[in-house]
Amino acid sequence: MRARVLASRQAKDKVVVLDRDGTIVVDRHYLSDPAALEFEPEAELGLRRMADMGFRLVVITNQSGIARGFFSLARLDEIHNRMAQMLESIGAPLAGIYFCPHGPEDACDCRKPNLGLMRQASQELGFDMSEAIVIGDKDSDVEFGRRAGAVTMLVANPVSRSLSGSSADYVVENLNQAADIMSRSD
Ligand SMILES: [Mg+2]
Ligand SMILES: [Zn+2]
Repeated sequence: MRARVLASRQAKDKVVVLDRDGTIVVDRHYLSDPAALEFEPEAELGLRRMADMGFRLVVITNQSGIARGFFSLARLDEIHNRMAQMLESIGAPLAGIYFCPHGPEDACDCRKPNLGLMRQASQELGFDMSEAIVIGDKDSDVEFGRRAGAVTMLVANPVSRSLSGSSADYVVENLNQAADIMSRSD
Protein backbone atom coordinates (compact mmCIF):
# COMPACT_ATOMS: atom_id res chain seq x y z
CA MET A 1 0.00 0.00 0.00
CA ARG A 2 2.03 2.94 -1.28
CA ALA A 3 0.24 5.82 0.29
CA ARG A 4 -0.24 9.51 0.10
CA VAL A 5 3.26 10.32 1.20
CA LEU A 6 3.82 10.92 -2.48
CA ALA A 7 1.15 13.60 -2.65
CA SER A 8 1.94 17.22 -1.99
CA ARG A 9 0.74 18.71 1.26
CA GLN A 10 0.32 22.21 2.59
CA ALA A 11 3.27 23.66 4.52
CA LYS A 12 1.33 23.62 7.80
CA ASP A 13 0.66 19.92 7.33
CA LYS A 14 4.27 18.94 6.71
CA VAL A 15 4.52 17.22 10.09
CA VAL A 16 6.28 14.05 11.15
CA VAL A 17 4.98 12.49 14.35
CA LEU A 18 7.76 10.38 15.81
CA ASP A 19 7.92 7.79 18.51
CA ARG A 20 10.85 8.28 20.90
CA ASP A 21 12.28 4.98 22.17
CA GLY A 22 13.53 2.62 19.50
CA THR A 23 12.83 5.23 16.83
CA ILE A 24 14.84 8.39 17.63
CA VAL A 25 16.87 7.10 20.56
CA VAL A 26 17.93 3.64 21.60
CA ASP A 27 15.27 1.92 23.70
CA ARG A 28 16.79 1.56 27.19
CA HIS A 29 13.62 0.11 28.77
CA TYR A 30 12.41 2.82 31.12
CA LEU A 31 15.30 5.16 30.45
CA SER A 32 15.74 7.25 33.59
CA ASP A 33 19.09 8.94 32.99
CA PRO A 34 19.44 11.82 30.51
CA ALA A 35 23.10 10.85 30.00
CA ALA A 36 21.99 7.48 28.60
CA LEU A 37 20.24 9.08 25.60
CA GLU A 38 21.81 7.81 22.41
CA PHE A 39 20.57 8.26 18.86
CA GLU A 40 19.46 5.22 16.90
CA PRO A 41 21.67 4.47 13.86
CA GLU A 42 21.23 7.08 11.12
CA ALA A 43 18.58 8.92 13.15
CA GLU A 44 20.56 12.18 13.20
CA LEU A 45 20.98 12.27 9.44
CA GLY A 46 17.38 11.29 8.79
CA LEU A 47 15.92 13.86 11.16
CA ARG A 48 18.08 16.65 9.81
CA ARG A 49 17.03 15.80 6.27
CA MET A 50 13.35 15.86 7.30
CA ALA A 51 13.85 19.27 8.90
CA ASP A 52 15.66 20.50 5.79
CA MET A 53 12.68 19.37 3.69
CA GLY A 54 10.46 21.64 5.78
CA PHE A 55 8.82 19.02 7.99
CA ARG A 56 8.05 19.92 11.59
CA LEU A 57 9.16 17.21 13.99
CA VAL A 58 6.81 16.22 16.81
CA VAL A 59 7.47 13.49 19.38
CA ILE A 60 4.57 11.55 20.90
CA THR A 61 5.70 8.94 23.41
CA ASN A 62 4.23 6.53 25.95
CA GLN A 63 6.14 6.84 29.23
CA SER A 64 4.50 4.37 31.59
CA GLY A 65 7.67 4.44 33.69
CA ILE A 66 5.98 7.40 35.41
CA ALA A 67 2.91 5.36 36.38
CA ARG A 68 5.15 2.48 37.41
CA GLY A 69 7.18 4.75 39.69
CA PHE A 70 10.46 4.17 37.86
CA PHE A 71 11.17 7.88 37.42
CA SER A 72 9.59 11.23 38.20
CA LEU A 73 8.01 13.84 35.96
CA ALA A 74 10.94 16.11 36.80
CA ARG A 75 13.36 13.46 35.58
CA LEU A 76 11.35 12.95 32.39
CA ASP A 77 11.57 16.70 31.83
CA GLU A 78 15.36 16.51 32.13
CA ILE A 79 15.48 13.66 29.64
CA HIS A 80 13.29 15.53 27.16
CA ASN A 81 15.21 18.77 27.59
CA ARG A 82 18.45 16.98 26.79
CA MET A 83 16.94 15.18 23.81
CA ALA A 84 15.59 18.51 22.52
CA GLN A 85 19.08 20.02 22.86
CA MET A 86 20.64 17.07 21.04
CA LEU A 87 18.19 17.48 18.17
CA GLU A 88 18.61 21.23 18.04
CA SER A 89 22.38 20.83 17.87
CA ILE A 90 22.12 18.63 14.77
CA GLY A 91 19.79 21.02 12.94
CA ALA A 92 16.57 19.12 13.65
CA PRO A 93 14.74 21.12 16.33
CA LEU A 94 11.50 19.70 17.71
CA ALA A 95 8.16 21.47 17.37
CA GLY A 96 6.85 19.63 20.42
CA ILE A 97 7.18 16.66 22.76
CA TYR A 98 4.00 15.04 24.09
CA PHE A 99 3.97 12.12 26.51
CA CYS A 100 1.49 9.81 28.20
CA PRO A 101 2.52 9.17 31.83
CA HIS A 102 -0.06 6.42 32.40
CA GLY A 103 0.09 2.65 32.37
CA PRO A 104 -1.88 0.25 30.19
CA GLU A 105 -4.44 -0.33 32.94
CA ASP A 106 -5.25 3.35 33.42
CA ALA A 107 -7.64 3.50 30.48
CA CYS A 108 -6.52 7.01 29.57
CA ASP A 109 -7.09 8.48 26.15
CA CYS A 110 -3.51 9.65 25.71
CA ARG A 111 -1.65 6.35 25.62
CA LYS A 112 -0.87 5.34 22.05
CA PRO A 113 -2.58 3.96 20.04
CA ASN A 114 -5.27 6.26 21.48
CA LEU A 115 -5.37 9.65 19.81
CA GLY A 116 -5.51 12.05 22.76
CA LEU A 117 -2.00 13.39 22.32
CA MET A 118 -2.34 13.50 18.55
CA ARG A 119 -5.46 15.65 18.90
CA GLN A 120 -3.68 17.93 21.36
CA ALA A 121 -0.65 18.29 19.12
CA SER A 122 -2.70 18.93 16.00
CA GLN A 123 -4.67 21.64 17.79
CA GLU A 124 -1.70 23.31 19.46
CA LEU A 125 0.56 23.15 16.42
CA GLY A 126 -2.11 23.65 13.78
CA PHE A 127 -1.92 20.65 11.50
CA ASP A 128 -4.32 18.07 10.10
CA MET A 129 -3.50 14.72 11.70
CA SER A 130 -4.59 12.82 8.62
CA GLU A 131 -1.88 14.62 6.64
CA ALA A 132 0.88 13.70 9.10
CA ILE A 133 3.50 11.01 8.68
CA VAL A 134 3.64 8.77 11.77
CA ILE A 135 6.85 6.85 12.40
CA GLY A 136 7.50 4.33 15.17
CA ASP A 137 9.02 0.96 15.93
CA LYS A 138 5.96 -0.93 17.20
CA ASP A 139 2.66 -2.13 15.85
CA SER A 140 0.97 0.20 18.35
CA ASP A 141 2.65 3.13 16.60
CA VAL A 142 1.35 1.91 13.26
CA GLU A 143 -2.13 1.48 14.73
CA PHE A 144 -1.90 4.99 16.21
CA GLY A 145 -1.08 6.45 12.82
CA ARG A 146 -3.75 4.38 11.14
CA ARG A 147 -6.39 5.69 13.55
CA ALA A 148 -5.29 9.23 12.73
CA GLY A 149 -5.66 8.50 9.02
CA ALA A 150 -1.97 9.31 8.59
CA VAL A 151 0.74 7.74 6.49
CA THR A 152 2.52 5.16 8.64
CA MET A 153 6.13 4.02 8.66
CA LEU A 154 7.50 1.22 10.83
CA VAL A 155 11.16 1.42 11.81
CA ALA A 156 12.05 -2.26 11.76
CA ASN A 157 14.79 -2.43 14.36
CA PRO A 158 15.68 -5.90 15.71
CA VAL A 159 12.92 -5.73 18.34
CA SER A 160 10.09 -4.60 16.11
CA ARG A 161 11.13 -6.85 13.28
CA SER A 162 10.56 -9.88 15.48
CA LEU A 163 7.28 -8.65 16.96
CA SER A 164 5.58 -7.00 14.10
CA GLY A 165 2.91 -8.20 11.78
CA SER A 166 3.07 -4.79 10.35
CA SER A 167 0.37 -3.18 8.30
CA ALA A 168 2.47 -0.03 7.92
CA ASP A 169 2.40 1.82 4.63
CA TYR A 170 6.22 1.65 4.62
CA VAL A 171 8.74 -0.43 6.51
CA VAL A 172 12.19 1.13 6.87
CA GLU A 173 15.34 0.20 8.74
CA ASN A 174 16.02 3.65 10.16
CA LEU A 175 15.01 7.30 9.95
CA ASN A 176 17.39 8.00 7.11
CA GLN A 177 15.48 5.53 4.95
CA ALA A 178 12.27 7.22 6.05
CA ALA A 179 13.75 10.51 4.82
CA ASP A 180 14.55 8.84 1.49
CA ILE A 181 10.87 8.02 1.03
CA MET A 182 9.80 11.50 2.07
CA SER A 183 12.29 13.09 -0.31
CA ARG A 184 10.76 11.19 -3.19
CA SER A 185 7.44 12.75 -2.30
CA ASP A 186 8.63 16.33 -2.48
MG1 LIG B 1 9.15 2.78 20.54
ZN1 LIG C 1 -2.22 8.55 29.13
